[in-house]
Amino acid sequence: MAKNNVPIIGITCDYKEKTKKYSLNRAYVEAIRRANGAPIILAPVEDILLRQKQANIIDGLLLTGGRDIEPTVYGEQPILKLKKIHSIRQQHEIELVKLVCELNKPILGICLGCQLLNVALGGTLYQDIKMQLPTASSHLQKNKRKETSHIVYIKEGSKLHQILKVSKLKTNSFHHQAIKKIAPNLRASAYAEDGIIEAIETKKDDCFLLGIQWHPEELIENPLHLALFEALVEEAIKLKIGKKAK
Ligand code: MN
Repeated sequence: MAKNNVPIIGITCDYKEKTKKYSLNRAYVEAIRRANGAPIILAPVEDILLRQKQANIIDGLLLTGGRDIEPTVYGEQPILKLKKIHSIRQQHEIELVKLVCELNKPILGICLGCQLLNVALGGTLYQDIKMQLPTASSHLQKNKRKETSHIVYIKEGSKLHQILKVSKLKTNSFHHQAIKKIAPNLRASAYAEDGIIEAIETKKDDCFLLGIQWHPEELIENPLHLALFEALVEEAIKLKIGKKAK
């Protein structure tokens, strides 16, 4: 690949008010690097113009994991005590998704990032799988992040299936929330055995929006999990060199 075609992939990070520190698992940066993207970490900002600038300079966006979204954002009252992400991060990422979508740039959302993509575009969440879907399995695995705990079934004909070319995949699982109502322009592309939505994607053919409920960045030694990051980078390159199929 020509060096000047390396796209800039913006990666969101966490913020904690108590320590006044930003944080990000290295695995996300490593996954983008391995997929031949140039990772840059996007600090959450409150200024709209600065956020617009961030959206303008990136070629693609990676929304990372974290705690929970405030339920009032998707029109619900909290039904349990949630461990929420900082309001600055929440506001920033929801608005950033909308800006990046307007620019038609590709987005990959992981875990919270998948949920946030859905909420930003008008969907809702189960606030707690255990409370609201008592017959579902636990999606909070006890084994290590690099180990898998359940199978995901991938819908044939979906964009996800085009990327992975398999109908099932072993994944890890670290979420107590899940997609409830899917945003109008998105559709489910993978499910767990218990019916929990494990991946969402755009219905449109002229853009790339993909939400993954597991943590593929921890499993990139398996080429199938790395392929998700490669797909983001490839879409970013297409956009960058202006050869995107219309
Ligand atoms: Mn899961």
